[in-house]
Amino acid sequence: MPLDSAMPAERILILGGTEEARRLASELVIEGHHVVTSLAGRTMEPVLPPGEVRIGGFGGIDGLVEYLTAEQFDRVIDATHPFAHRISANAARATAIAGIPLRRLQRPAWIRRPGDLWTAVGNLEAAADALPQGATVFLALGRQYLDAFLPRSDCQFVIRMVDPPTQPLGFTHYTLMLGKPSGDASEEASLLRRFGVTHLVCRNSGGITGYAKLEAARNLAIPVIMLERD
Ligand code: NAP
Repeated sequence: MPLDSAMPAERILILGGTEEARRLASELVIEGHHVVTSLAGRTMEPVLPPGEVRIGGFGGIDGLVEYLTAEQFDRVIDATHPFAHRISANAARATAIAGIPLRRLQRPAWIRRPGDLWTAVGNLEAAADALPQGATVFLALGRQYLDAFLPRSDCQFVIRMVDPPTQPLGFTHYTLMLGKPSGDASEEASLLRRFGVTHLVCRNSGGITGYAKLEAARNLAIPVIMLERD
């Protein structure tokens, strides 16, 4: 609902890169606020939210303090991915220094359901160690999380990326698919079947779209190595 005339419009910075951040930007723009969404610039063709968008890092805590002060934001909403730890820590520190209110909007983690065959692990190395010899593994992880699996040359990896990698991936046996995750469990299931996947590795990111692969794994009785949040 648009702001009523007694409510002042605010200048709001959303730290984004997630579906939730896009939805929030739409709501706040409709309410009449001046919204700037900040993206890290990791994807080549990001889906842009309504309002203003800026792209690229701030240059650490100092850069963010400088930006917040120069742009005179009334508040900051950190709607980044639950595993984007650095930007969230920087936002907490920078808003404290600049004296600007911060709200952290974090997706709830996924909860194990009957039929799920999850093994919870605390880090990527433990995830790589948890894979049995000769497994065919769907790595539902971002590019920066893959290297921990390189020593497992006995396994076959299936990797999905939005944009093509800029450097060779370094795996002995792997299949690369370009594209985004589907929100449809039956599409995710047919992908797991097509590649003969025996194990799925993912992080407990929460959210709606990413959950389809977990539903698919449950339906196909595929074990999941789940990297839990800190
Ligand atoms: P990260 O490790 O916490 O951040 C690394 C650096 O990237 C930050 O120090 C910051 O650089 C810059 N950065 C990160 N998010 C930014 C943002 N929203 N706006 C401007 N600069 C940003 O983050 P990450 O895990 O690489 O994730 C990057 C972005 O992708 C986040 O916006 C996140 O919401 C989105 N995303 C991440 C994942 C994931 O799996 N991690 C999944 C989906 C979407 P400076 O220090 O120079 O400011």
